[in-house]
Amino acid sequence: SAKKAGRGQYRFFDQSLNVTDVEEFHLEQAFTESLRNRDFLLHYQPQVCLDSMEVIGYEALVRWQHPSFGLLYPDKFIPLSEKTGFVVKLGMEVLRLACVQISEWQQMLGVSKPIAVNVSPIQLSQPDFCANVLTMLSDMGLNPDLLELEITETAMLESRAVETLHRLKQAGIRLSLDDFGTGYAGFAHLEAVPVDKLKIDRSLINRISNSHDDSPIVSSTIILARRMAIQVVAEGVETHDQLVHLKVAGCHIAQGYFLGRPMPAEKILDFERAFTEKENVV
Ligand code: C2E
Ligand code: MG
Ligand code: MG
Ligand code: MG
Repeated sequence: SAKKAGRGQYRFFDQSLNVTDVEEFHLEQAFTESLRNRDFLLHYQPQVCLDSMEVIGYEALVRWQHPSFGLLYPDKFIPLSEKTGFVVKLGMEVLRLACVQISEWQQMLGVSKPIAVNVSPIQLSQPDFCANVLTMLSDMGLNPDLLELEITETAMLESRAVETLHRLKQAGIRLSLDDFGTGYAGFAHLEAVPVDKLKIDRSLINRISNSHDDSPIVSSTIILARRMAIQVVAEGVETHDQLVHLKVAGCHIAQGYFLGRPMPAEKILDFERAFTEKENVV
């Protein structure tokens, strides 16, 4: 248990970001050891095209299989990994795992659907980020268009990050703007950064509570994005009503518990088989 670990070594899991230097040191050790032991893994959540109702790709979501605390979710450790800078190494491990998965699907099925990976603003601000990603893809012989990077508005505020995004995009990697609607940058930044997709945050999708609601923010976001030739993804779709509403409003892609929860890679084939057999989802 946390207490047995002694000396408050694991207090950093209590969610407060007030870690002391000593705790930060132990945390860094725990991170490094888990990286060496391959205790970080990915779960995959399907993204569904609302026209064809087919699974068109997956978002990779990191989990930490902690030796004493069990499976930890990103909210418990990503903010801390950003604070200590470990997110840079963790992020490369996440990219590596996603690339290995793409490559396995290609070998097993002859094709792979694209995988979207979340990228911290701290990763994007590293001068060698773009080069590292491209080297990884070419070492593994993967087409860059199978990788999508999910970035947040905060990442777009730094000019070096914007430059990096342009280079990634030029290399054929797809870019997706995550959590849209939670910040304040809005559409102004979309003109500076070449994103392919915009993901409307779950908090906005939540407001679509029944088919009579017209949720003007969601529908106008969809209209604006479409006019900019940007694909729209709805995050956190939990009900049938929300799905119908989004389809009618012109949303391209949906993701959420109603369609499929994040799952380990081994479950994907069974999931897709069952999903294809499901009728009249919309
Ligand atoms: P996100 O990128 O916005 O990912 C979506 C989150 O919403 C995921 O939580 C997913 O499990 C959850 N979700 C999906 N559908 C539903 C739904 O219908 N209802 C509800 N209530 N939740 C839903 P998760 O996996 O806990 O990840 C949380 C956040 O952690 C992510 O938000 C992302 O910002 C961050 N994250 C995850 N993996 C990574 C990573 O590899 N690197 C970095 N830097 N951040 C990551
Ligand atoms: Mg995301
Ligand atoms: Mg999101
Ligand atoms: Mg989020």
